[in-house]
Amino acid sequence: MRTIAMIGTGYVGLVNGTCLAHIGHSVQCCDTNADKIEWLQQGRIPIYEPGLEAMVAENVAAGRLSFTSDMASAIEQSDLLFIAVGTPMAPTGAADLGYIQSVAEFIGRHLTAYKTIVIKSTVPVGTGRMVDSWIRANMQNPQIPFDVVSNPEFLREGSAVADFMKMERCIVGAIRPEAAQLVADCFEPLNTKTYFTTPESAEMIKYAANAFLATKISFINAIANLCERYGADVEDVAEGIGSDSRIGSAFLRAGIGYGGSCFPKDTHALNWMADQAGYNFGLLKEVIQTNEEQKYVLLKKLVQALGDLRGTTIAVLGLSFKPNTDDLRDAPSLALIPALIAAGASVRVYDPVAMSEARKWFGSDVNYGIGVYQTIAGCDACLILTEWREFITLDLEQVRQLLKRPIVVDGRNCYSLASMSGHGIEYHSIGRTAVS
Ligand code: NAD
Repeated sequence: MRTIAMIGTGYVGLVNGTCLAHIGHSVQCCDTNADKIEWLQQGRIPIYEPGLEAMVAENVAAGRLSFTSDMASAIEQSDLLFIAVGTPMAPTGAADLGYIQSVAEFIGRHLTAYKTIVIKSTVPVGTGRMVDSWIRANMQNPQIPFDVVSNPEFLREGSAVADFMKMERCIVGAIRPEAAQLVADCFEPLNTKTYFTTPESAEMIKYAANAFLATKISFINAIANLCERYGADVEDVAEGIGSDSRIGSAFLRAGIGYGGSCFPKDTHALNWMADQAGYNFGLLKEVIQTNEEQKYVLLKKLVQALGDLRGTTIAVLGLSFKPNTDDLRDAPSLALIPALIAAGASVRVYDPVAMSEARKWFGSDVNYGIGVYQTIAGCDACLILTEWREFITLDLEQVRQLLKRPIVVDGRNCYSLASMSGHGIEYHSIGRTAVS
């Protein structure tokens, strides 16, 4: 059992802190956002993540998990300091390391005994060494030893707890093997495969993984666009190529592109790193560009189906970048909805869990529906942007009756063409012919 300070209690910090407590460690989660800490101290969970609330409650009750704004004392009381603060995209496309630097400097000022500092945040190659020097530059007693270890995070929002508890692999990048082992031992109860690397390789593994997955998504979306032009069906094509074990079926769902807090910023950051090194990563640039364009394919389909959008009311079902999360960061809805409004449409939105997040992003630019059927009633068309369970099991008869014009434009291929035929609904989707 180790004592751990989790610095940054967002999606990654809260899930990691809670799960590390669940496997037996004593964890204090800290954050500079005092409101967030206060909520958590009251047992309220600031994010939507299946299974998390119960696990937080269980581990708080067991005395293994607590929340504090007193970062200095959490650092003093802990063996390991996990850094899980955000690394958002800077205007240049680079990862903004401002939060990382301020944490490193804080740790430096409060280091009174040996600590292992673990970087969970996604950071550009070479950041581990920068963290080392930021800590060193702020230490009152430069004799105190410490290690900086890279341990990138691979959890997926929406299944983050399960992803941690059934961890597929653990990457540990360290200079000193003893420090690497100490970090690997924290995850030992999970019985996962651990890969020991240099800090640079560990940092690169995270970006390479996300860039590769983004490439698969942009690739299948480009194939979908071709399928539409040649009358092929991208669902059949994805199944056909995905059954080849060299390719694999994951991340071959055609749609309106990737979003979220990771793929967009991480692909940009890797591209920035390549540019900095004088390497033109043309493939990655195309992946990013294809994704940008893909966000707007539903607008084109809608205009084809409805003509001029001025004076129309469009229902948008699904706002989060994927199901089972309330995260709207870089969601395709953030690009598409303003484009619909700019084209003259009024927009009525509904999402099963992201409505309060949506109000922060869209304010009074859209109308907020209550439930699917109230949202679509009287609308000229309905768009599906997120494949929430609620949207893949719609009562199609009601949909047809409630829409002013029975047009559904589905950005996530929630329905088979066979199941949408014969309902009197004009159904447009991605990489497939339209049916009615
Ligand atoms: P987040 O924005 O949800 O959380 C970051 C938290 O850090 C916030 O609560 C913020 O208040 C806090 N913070 C900022 N500065 C701080 C400081 N100086 N001291 C203490 N707390 C501070 O971000 P996230 O989604 O959890 O992502 C964190 C990192 O993990 C990023 O680098 C991200 O790329 C990476 N990551 C995220 C995911 C994901 O699915 N969200 C998956 C893998 C990796």
